[in-house]
Amino acid sequence: MTTRVLHTAGKDADPRAIAFAAEEIRDGGLVAFPTETVYGLGAEIYNEGAIRKIFEVKGRPPDNPLIVHIADPEQGIELMQQVPDRYNVLATAFMPGPLTLVVQRNASVLDVVTAGLETVAIRMPSHPLALELIRAVGAPLAAPSANVSGNPSPTTAEEAYEELDGKVAFILDGGRSDIGIESTVLDITGSKPVILRPGMITGEDISGALHEDVLHASEAGEVRSPGVKYRHYMPAVPMTLFAGQNAEDGIAAAAERLIAEGQRVGVLAPERMKRISHTLFYSLGKGATLDYAKYMYSGLRFFSAQQVDVLLCAGIEEEHQGLAIMNRLRKAATTIREIDEEDL
Ligand code: AMP
Ligand code: MG
Repeated sequence: MTTRVLHTAGKDADPRAIAFAAEEIRDGGLVAFPTETVYGLGAEIYNEGAIRKIFEVKGRPPDNPLIVHIADPEQGIELMQQVPDRYNVLATAFMPGPLTLVVQRNASVLDVVTAGLETVAIRMPSHPLALELIRAVGAPLAAPSANVSGNPSPTTAEEAYEELDGKVAFILDGGRSDIGIESTVLDITGSKPVILRPGMITGEDISGALHEDVLHASEAGEVRSPGVKYRHYMPAVPMTLFAGQNAEDGIAAAAERLIAEGQRVGVLAPERMKRISHTLFYSLGKGATLDYAKYMYSGLRFFSAQQVDVLLCAGIEEEHQGLAIMNRLRKAATTIREIDEEDL
């Protein structure tokens, strides 16, 4: 299959891009499309054959359910048994946006979408192309991230092409994803809401909107999301993550030692850490949580394609949005060094 990247902005823009992509999906095909979190690989949710293709193309384990993307909070209602009050409150506060809600599903939702679970995960993206595509298809789209399972998620059309060349007919190019990491996944089926996967919408944000406590999966005993048990976001080179209060001193000392030993060292860190010894440096901008989110997957991909022996990554404080960043970096790392005050 020849994969075409359809440009939707600039002088190569194709005004027919959305129509081509929607027709491909209505015919049972898959299309990669931009969202504000990461690029998605979409199929029509009522087409079982198309959904199976998603799992095939990604090599995704069949017990890992998909997120259903809608163009309007109302469109989610056709998938549910009943509409929880929390759905209405959170839809008003955070839709469109990087929050996925897990609710009880009804019989219209196929088992392949939810991996047989009685619940379904629903999100309304804010990227205009994603919304136009869903509207043009006329049905919700099941769409996991547009990467082969285990790789970092793509945040540009070029990165989606690296993952899917020859496997899908179309990739819609909508520029770099504004956020750059996947949505917060929140289960609202239980007595307390539970964050199954942290994201840039935090527990504090959700708790503020709902006026109730929000738990993280680690505090909630039984509640688990099937996807979180798998390894994700792995670069093709061994990566050491430096966490804790003195991560910066830790990474500087390690880099100096490795360079002295003659190793080729990649450093993934905020711009201000460029003074650290390195063979290749990839900047995470000013190092705020938003900068990490926006550039870290591209950084992991960059080093996967370079001849470095080891990648050293500077961690970030693990609270609020930093929880979402460190959740991804911990899964990407082969080694984690916790460097706190007493280690110096
Ligand atoms: P991805 O689309 O690849 O970013 O992954 C989707 C995430 O949502 C995975 O972590 C899934 O386990 C999670 N997810 C999707 N549907 C459900 C559901 N019904 N219950 C719990 N987690 C879900
Ligand atoms: Mg994914």
